[in-house]
Amino acid sequence: MYLLTVLLEIRSLDQEFSYTAMDDLMVQVGMRILVNFGPQKLVGFVIRSTKITDLSETEKTLGYELKPILGVIDKKPILSPELIKLARQVADYYLTSLISVLQSMLPLGLKPNTNYRHGPKEQFATFYEFILFDNAIRLTPKQQELLDLLKSVGRLPKKMVKPTMIKPFLEHHYVRAIKEKITSTFKSEVVLDYVKPQLTEEQALIVEKIHAAPRKTYLLHGVTGSGKTEVYLALTEEYLRKKQSVIILVPEISLTPQMFSILWTRFKDQVSILHSGLTPKERYEQYLHIKDTPTIVVVGTRSAVFAPVNNLGLIVIDEEHVESYKQDVTPRYHAREVAKFRVDMSGATLLLGSATPSLYSYSRARKGLYQLLELKQRINEIKLPRTELIDLHQLSNLDDQSSLLSLPLRQKMKVALDNREQIILLINKRGYASFVTCRNCGFIISCPHDGYLLTYHKADRLLKCHHCEHVELWPDSCPNCLETTFASSSFGTERIEEEVRRFFPEARIARFDSDSTKTKTALSRIIKGFNQHEFDILIGTQMLSKGHDFSRVSLVGVVLADYGLNNPSFMSGERTFDLICQAIGRAGRKYQGGTALIQTYNPRHPALIDAVRQDYQDFYLKEMMLRKLRHKPPYTFLIMLTLCAKELLLLEDFGGLLQSLLRTNASGFTVSELIKPYHDFMKDTFYRKLLLTYKTQVQKDEITQIIKSITLPRKLTLSLDVDPSDDL
Ligand code: ADP
Repeated sequence: MYLLTVLLEIRSLDQEFSYTAMDDLMVQVGMRILVNFGPQKLVGFVIRSTKITDLSETEKTLGYELKPILGVIDKKPILSPELIKLARQVADYYLTSLISVLQSMLPLGLKPNTNYRHGPKEQFATFYEFILFDNAIRLTPKQQELLDLLKSVGRLPKKMVKPTMIKPFLEHHYVRAIKEKITSTFKSEVVLDYVKPQLTEEQALIVEKIHAAPRKTYLLHGVTGSGKTEVYLALTEEYLRKKQSVIILVPEISLTPQMFSILWTRFKDQVSILHSGLTPKERYEQYLHIKDTPTIVVVGTRSAVFAPVNNLGLIVIDEEHVESYKQDVTPRYHAREVAKFRVDMSGATLLLGSATPSLYSYSRARKGLYQLLELKQRINEIKLPRTELIDLHQLSNLDDQSSLLSLPLRQKMKVALDNREQIILLINKRGYASFVTCRNCGFIISCPHDGYLLTYHKADRLLKCHHCEHVELWPDSCPNCLETTFASSSFGTERIEEEVRRFFPEARIARFDSDSTKTKTALSRIIKGFNQHEFDILIGTQMLSKGHDFSRVSLVGVVLADYGLNNPSFMSGERTFDLICQAIGRAGRKYQGGTALIQTYNPRHPALIDAVRQDYQDFYLKEMMLRKLRHKPPYTFLIMLTLCAKELLLLEDFGGLLQSLLRTNASGFTVSELIKPYHDFMKDTFYRKLLLTYKTQVQKDEITQIIKSITLPRKLTLSLDVDPSDDL
């Protein structure tokens, strides 16, 4: 008999339970089981199993009676001991429950959840396989046709053959029926004219270095178009040759088709794909396929870091600086951190790549915690595009026809279209801020003190600066044209599309944002269409600025760079720098002479100036200085506590109490004032936050202890975010 340690499917029950199982049930760690829990039947997940000989002795030691499990769901473990260990480490680091991590590691059909009690269903297909033909029976012409076909192809799927036709063949053992498990391997939907290139000297040196000293964490810093992807591919080839699996993470679903097609061109059905855009059935099948394949390459988004590959050799995180690697719901993990845990545990290699590494990773590389590798030249020494900041305050850049598309941008667009070159227009549409614009000339109201765009707050009908304390009323007249009608608007991609159509009615335009790319097919259609020059202009959000390799793009326009800067988070400079650098990198990738135009109301902002110069070092040093002064990461670590309740009084009282509790016990860590977030009231619920800043693991442990010791009022919820990507 076995004593099982079990986690139950209820996430808030962050507790282990014990049950027993008889030997013949063959329960193993990593399987799901069914148990009685009070009056309910629940699904549990086995995390430990110990053989016991004497039940009553064990019960005596434990001090309670043990119940047997009701049944076993899985025939084989769905998570390996290594992945369970990883889950535990993730749960400990992110101060969250182990079951919530396990739940998010598994595809829908395999989650420990009452709705999925029936275990993985394997799908089979039947084939008729030709054995021999001895002329013992006379065949009709149709049967002769079938026989010829069978002889030439060897076998046919059952569903292609009429039962009456095949019956005599079966009876005389001319064919036999065989059943085979169906595994769904994906085929590339995007066709690329990809040819494996000879590595440049710089690329080859990097591959060699990693090869010579694996089992480390590397940061590959290479400008856009310097051939990082080729480095990943060359390494993947090496690892596959050594019969080791590779996981390649890309920041967004929109980038998976492209990466997948390149990988597929080179490694065919050794490649698998895992991301949330797949249907539950596809994810489920891919998961099982990965688990059952000895060596495989998995390409996917954030959660693919948990892919159940065998014999892991390498994890690549492309565009490692992108924030989508951090999950914004529980468990709030960052794929980079999880990958680090995973490679440390398994002795694999981690390769982080970026043109604009996160300050987090770059500072680690400078300290020697990661090994820094650099690709300094763009392939074929193609120069980065000529880049200019267009000051939207300068009236000579605008006319009365448009406030969105400046004169220089429109001129350059016309030239590109005349030359049959492609254009990308980008908008940094982070957040929901809306601005106030003059209906007549399109002038946008900005802060008289620091030039940032003022944000319109509907609730109190005030225009506020998010950088200083400036607040003003809805304007009487436009400072530019003196007209008196205004509109509050936020530029969306649709609005830009309208404007572009007005000026360039002939141009073929596609829009690429989360609305237009909800489905996988829509997404690959747009990418494929743009690659094949079915569109001249692609308009998109920051999704578009990353990773895509469109060769005919000669002009990139950032319609308004200020959205990011308008955000007072400690990350806003870094985000804007990244966006602009990445955007610039999209222009002129295959031939000389690309141009990038960045429209802004803040042409003197240091992050913009450095981005235009593509001066990462200067940006890094300045930004690090600011972070140090402000006690922000990577100099410190943060934990964000979010409290929410339907009663404001309860929320604020408890918030104050928690704050003073933390403050009285704080030894070295700091506790913010109770923060009222920008969205402080949603769906009948009020929100408040507390930001904790700490420097050492000891301080983190103290924080954990204090939080664990508190009893929450019943009508209040507390959630924790370790290493949040914002501080407000
Ligand atoms: P990055 O990932 O750094 O942005 P990519 O790997 O996408 O850059 O490379 C940019 C372009 O250069 C791609 O079209 C790629 O096919 C091409 N390329 C990369 N390495 C080589 C090489 N060694 N020889 C020729 N072309 C290359």
